[in-house]
Amino acid sequence: MNLWKKLLCYSRRKSPWLFHMNSGSCNGCDIELIAGLTPRYDAEQLGVKHEASPRHADIICISGPVTHTAVNAMKTVYGQVCHPKAVVAIGSCPASTNVFIDSRVLDGPLDRHIPVDVYVPGCPPRPDAILAGIAKAAEILAARAGQEAQPAAAPVAAEEEKA
Ligand code: SF4
Repeated sequence: MNLWKKLLCYSRRKSPWLFHMNSGSCNGCDIELIAGLTPRYDAEQLGVKHEASPRHADIICISGPVTHTAVNAMKTVYGQVCHPKAVVAIGSCPASTNVFIDSRVLDGPLDRHIPVDVYVPGCPPRPDAILAGIAKAAEILAARAGQEAQPAAAPVAAEEEKA
């Protein structure tokens, strides 16, 4: 790895930008994530920035049990984040669909559709647990910087979605 790539890896570990997506959550996990970004939990010590566009982000944080209507948007967002990227599943919902497991509106868990790098369990997890997950994802990002890009998950075709 040349010096430029080493510098990039170092800066990625120290400044992960997050894009947050709700895939049908009850908002409990979303509130805890936002609490983790406040000065009380001091996410800025990790250089974390909440980013509005997936094109500028390094880490995708996804909450919720993954509804049918969220699948296409989620795959589009995953494709828009540049390599290297990491995915953090926040709460028990994206990991297992949680208490909503038999719901007919769901198409979870999350790893059916996109690769997940870090799971943060809990219903909801505490903000400090979410920050620990983000720190782990930042380490994964730095390690992934020298690797080949993974193929993006293709959005579901409209006909396939209706079937
Ligand atoms: S894990 Fe719990 S708090 Fe988080 S979205 Fe699911 S039900 Fe809500």
